[in-house]
Amino acid sequence: MLKGSCFCRSVGYEVADEFSYALNCHCSNCRRTTGAAFKPFAGIEREKLQITTGKGHILVHGEPDENDTHCAVCGSPLFSVVREGKYIHVSLGTLIDPPSIRPTAHIFVGSKAPWYDIADELPQFDEFPD
Ligand SMILES: [Zn+2]
Ligand SMILES: [Zn+2]
Repeated sequence: MLKGSCFCRSVGYEVADEFSYALNCHCSNCRRTTGAAFKPFAGIEREKLQITTGKGHILVHGEPDENDTHCAVCGSPLFSVVREGKYIHVSLGTLIDPPSIRPTAHIFVGSKAPWYDIADELPQFDEFPD
């Protein structure tokens, strides 16, 4: 299992090192959520992630099956619940242990920040990958 945590350490989680995919998302929502040029995230079945500490400090922005889950104390974007509640997109920056998977593409490059230049050779997609 991989451990993860928010900035203030109020919330901790464990997730299996069994991610199905990993991407760098440049959409404006991910940029605003993270305050960064893009958000690296990895997708996994929902039941493979457990909150281990600080359940009472979780802030859910959205619906039970479609949301962004943050630490309510420091605001760190921990993960999003997506695909009708079946999958979780873990914000890779909140992992303490390194995952085996690496992001394989840049998505929503059509709306990326004009002040950021992508400097690697990964494939780029205007929106979702084909
Ligand atoms: Zn926190
Ligand atoms: Zn995005």
